[in-house]
Amino acid sequence: QIILGIETSCDETAAAVIKNGKEILSNVVASQIESHKRFGGVVPEIASRHHVEQMTIVLEEALNQAGIGYSDIDAIAVTEGPGLVGALLIGVNAAKAIAFAHNIPLVGVHHIAGHIYANRLVTEMKFPALSLVVSGGHTELVLLKEHGDFTVIGETRDDAAGEAYDKVARTLHLPYPGGPHIDRLAHEGNPSLKLPRAWLEGSYDFSFSGLKSAVINTLHNAEQRGENIEPADLAASFQESVIEVLVTKTLQAAQAYDVKQVLLAGGVAANKGLRAALTDGFESLSDIELVVPPLYLCTDNAAMIAAAGSVLFQKGKRSSLALNGNPGLDIEQSMF
Ligand code: ATP
Ligand code: MG
Ligand code: FE
Repeated sequence: QIILGIETSCDETAAAVIKNGKEILSNVVASQIESHKRFGGVVPEIASRHHVEQMTIVLEEALNQAGIGYSDIDAIAVTEGPGLVGALLIGVNAAKAIAFAHNIPLVGVHHIAGHIYANRLVTEMKFPALSLVVSGGHTELVLLKEHGDFTVIGETRDDAAGEAYDKVARTLHLPYPGGPHIDRLAHEGNPSLKLPRAWLEGSYDFSFSGLKSAVINTLHNAEQRGENIEPADLAASFQESVIEVLVTKTLQAAQAYDVKQVLLAGGVAANKGLRAALTDGFESLSDIELVVPPLYLCTDNAAMIAAAGSVLFQKGKRSSLALNGNPGLDIEQSMF
């Protein structure tokens, strides 16, 4: 079974070919980070224009690298949402055009389901599984009872983890995206500053906006008093707070729902501190397997979309040529 995946939800134009749901034949990603950097974030209009320019080039490259033609493809999996509407539309319309021209089945995929299914490219998924999704726009704990059966058991009430990283980085005058810079700085500093942790007792929800404000206030107050704060210490303190809450809640939920696997997903999964703390935390829980995909599968790519699409296709999901980009698509409702 050969699946072509297409992803254009944000600022990566991506196409990939995977075989039998797991084997990556090609995985092409054209990143736009350089174009958005000078604005300190993703500019939707610029993102759409880049997707238009890159889409056919990336598609051709993905097919060439895989050594296949359109006639070899069993289904096209495309991100239908959530994301920037103008960006989603480029991928969805490219997918529909190919599906129509070559008479290939089309499968719409939820972007976060894709992030979660990056794990299927590295391991056999076992159920029930719990996924910690930490990305630029999402922070949630998703329970998978079976392939394609998603229940969100906790989510952020305000900022996503990646968003908090990017905002804190901006106050420290670090370039966009700030996550990797904070991660690097954090390892050079000491977590010596007192910052809050939003436990939201009794729920698996998260909140990071209070922490973000505390970082800004700490800097501001020190400035007013003429004191000097080491950016590395601030980064280390911020990172410690984020990781402590993420890891504690993931450990609690994994045990409460008696899961077999914990699947890390999303761009913030690239965080070295988070990877280490999760590995540490799950070491003593020998009946729960922690899965941590390689970095290139954690950030936006189309192989993960094809991996999720492969399972949906096998379960019989088909999207019509009326498929549209849906920026507010709900993961629990996205499957069938
Ligand atoms: P979503 O998937 O929710 O639509 P997105 O696709 O934009 O959002 P991803 O590409 O999954 O998000 O992840 C990007 C985010 O990951 C950015 O906020 C970035 O700062 C963050 N990030 C990347 N590397 C690291 C790191 N080492 N530490 C912390 N954050 C990181
Ligand atoms: Mg991105
Ligand atoms: Fe993403």
